[in-house]
Amino acid sequence: MDPSTPQLPANYRVILDVVKEYGAGRHATAQEVFMRARELRPGIGFTTVHRGLARLHELGHVLKLDITGEGSAMYEPATEAHAHFRCTDCGAVTDVDYAFNAATRAELESRHGLAIRSESITFTGLCRTCSSRESGTPLPS
Ligand SMILES: [Zn+2]
Ligand SMILES: [Zn+2]
Repeated sequence: MDPSTPQLPANYRVILDVVKEYGAGRHATAQEVFMRARELRPGIGFTTVHRGLARLHELGHVLKLDITGEGSAMYEPATEAHAHFRCTDCGAVTDVDYAFNAATRAELESRHGLAIRSESITFTGLCRTCSSRESGTPLPS
């Protein structure tokens, strides 16, 4: 048992394990988490997985992505804050090494009177594969 999550019900721990198994930078939908969780814990229901993901997100164990153009939210382990990139051509979603710095965040909080808890930044455009296909130049090897 993970000592950092002692109070989590067993179902939730299975869900968290599945998200961790996917790993950082991979983005699993609730459906994908459900399919894998069911292998580890037969009988677990989709509603439980869905509720578990929402709770794990609230608790800060899991990052949730709502990306415009994607039908379902995606989940990944809570790691460093980062942005995402969605390719408008092939639909690939990848991590981008970018986050607001703490000073910008504090400045926005005081200017607008907010208590910011999370941020979600998604860039869109063409991924490397698609942009090189469009320009006709081969991928750098
Ligand atoms: Zn692409
Ligand atoms: Zn990510």
